[in-house]
Amino acid sequence: MSSGLNTEQLRQKYLEERDKRLSVKRDYIDPVGSFPDFDRDPWIADKIEREPLTEDVDVLMTGAGLSALVSAAALHDAGIANIRMIDVAGDFGGVWYWNRYPGVRCDIESYVYLPLLEEVGTIPTEKYSTGKEIFEHAQAIGRHYNFYDKALFQTKITEARWDEATSRWHVSTDRGDLIRSRFLIGTSGYLHYPKFPNIPGIRDFKGKLFHPCRWDAKYTGGDSNGNLSGLKDQRVALIGTGATGIQIMPHLAKSAKQAYLFQRTPAAVDARNNRPTDTHWFKNQKQGWHAERMDNFHAVITGMPADVDLVDDCWTHAAGPLFKNAQVIDPENELAASEAMQLRDYQTMQGIRDRVDRVVTDPATAEKLKAWYNLYCKRPLYADDYLESFNSPNVRLIDTDGRGVERITETGLVANGEHFEVDCIIVASGFQIGAYEPATATFPIIGRDGQVLAEKWANGVYSVHGLWASGFPNFQVVGTILQAGVSFNYMWLAKEHALHAAAMISRALTEGMASIEVTKDAEDRWNDEMNRKAQDGTKFAEDCTPGYFNNEGDTSKPVLFANTYGGGAREYFGILQAWRDGGFTADTVITYQK
Ligand code: NAP
Repeated sequence: MSSGLNTEQLRQKYLEERDKRLSVKRDYIDPVGSFPDFDRDPWIADKIEREPLTEDVDVLMTGAGLSALVSAAALHDAGIANIRMIDVAGDFGGVWYWNRYPGVRCDIESYVYLPLLEEVGTIPTEKYSTGKEIFEHAQAIGRHYNFYDKALFQTKITEARWDEATSRWHVSTDRGDLIRSRFLIGTSGYLHYPKFPNIPGIRDFKGKLFHPCRWDAKYTGGDSNGNLSGLKDQRVALIGTGATGIQIMPHLAKSAKQAYLFQRTPAAVDARNNRPTDTHWFKNQKQGWHAERMDNFHAVITGMPADVDLVDDCWTHAAGPLFKNAQVIDPENELAASEAMQLRDYQTMQGIRDRVDRVVTDPATAEKLKAWYNLYCKRPLYADDYLESFNSPNVRLIDTDGRGVERITETGLVANGEHFEVDCIIVASGFQIGAYEPATATFPIIGRDGQVLAEKWANGVYSVHGLWASGFPNFQVVGTILQAGVSFNYMWLAKEHALHAAAMISRALTEGMASIEVTKDAEDRWNDEMNRKAQDGTKFAEDCTPGYFNNEGDTSKPVLFANTYGGGAREYFGILQAWRDGGFTADTVITYQK
């Protein structure tokens, strides 16, 4: 196929760039205990003082982020009101509570990402909402449903333990609370637990160092809109070119005396084209439009047949055509289909590289900002102000040719053998995946016979539908992709999981169930089904530049998407529906109240 691109040369270039990064040690450290600021909540003025609480509820949610809110709303709709949400944060919002760094914004269209828009009556002001707007919507959900009375904030769960004698979850907290709940919904989030790069000397830096999810606004001045007045005399280093780093960079360019971006891998950043909401259009949407739009977005970006592209944005334009072939693969002609897909990817990425030349005025800097890997090796990024940052005279790109920062000293950073003196280092190095595995579990969930969920899942999630686990009765996860269907629109998944949990709990309460638990056998069957449907992405992952999608390049272990349901999210939702509509009794052991 002729494309004007030298595909063989590109293939070689991608592999060379990958190899540079694979040859460098890429490990991370746990922030707890390493960085004193990490355990501090920068967003609360005062710690709430209160007496310990002892109570009985029907459902307890482990968190108060968007997954917990959609779960609570689904329970509300099912008539279940005796609920509790517990969160270490000071308010609703989860990641949108914590991440208030300058430029924070959701890169998925607000009309499909924000949950419960029709119910609450929120009209997002723009096609892509700011983090602040999402946080405020979370608060609005809290007010709309009167959930503030149901939440315990500034409270850390220390343990959730199944009590066999009473068929209750006993949930303890660092405030001395004991809450006995018939059901537990795991809403602890999925990309919330930060990781720091294990750069030699990182703990020795004497200036200011923080992760964006604990942004120090007292130091930088300004807020999530920028205007970082505190940085006007400061030299600031930013590490990280992921979704977070590229949103912060333009604000450092505007406010800091000197801003350095330490780049290990260039980001592939296409235009976002954000725009204000047409409120007339929004108000004239017909009932049910929201669910329809979420479903259509998923269909289009995964290349499924769809009559219309409702979202019609950078995601659907890039991914739709890319995956079209994957959906219609003719087994006789699989090779041709995958070659066509690869060619489209080369073309898309070339478009993104050409854009760098158009935006960045210094040709040498532009060259270093070009990404040489397939689009889906990393989460695709969209921004209209990131590349522009490098045209500011106070900004310098420190490209490390794949090696990353070598060392951090008391006064700065070393890269390419050069020492850079700085006052502040912002470490936008990402998050651990998951919430119930050893690296990310912030409290033990202890099921039957003392079994700890993080230990059961130490080598990967093993479950029914990613949501239920044998040995853990009356417990369901909401908001995961591991052993579940996957979508780039996380809230679409969380909403479906929440409906599932509410339907199951409602049935259990109505029928007087004391406990419902999936069998080991059902887990084995789901695992077999996962394997049967698995799409072999090993070759793709191996060819990719390292990142969190491919275990930082270690493909000896299953990579992220290999742990997701290969039949796609729509098919997965159908499985959940069929399960709750009848067939689940074959997969579960149910006991009834005496
Ligand atoms: P990330 O995508 O994992 O990026 C981490 C960055 O840190 C990478 O660029 C990595 O370099 C860099 N890094 C790590 N160690 C380094 C070292 N020693 N030297 C130099 N660079 C180093 O993390 P993130 O940007 O926080 O995003 C994580 C996820 O959060 C996103 O993918 C997205 O799902 C979510 N998020 C979403 C939004 C949104 O708009 N919806 C906004 C923010 C975050 P390499 O590239 O070389 O690995």
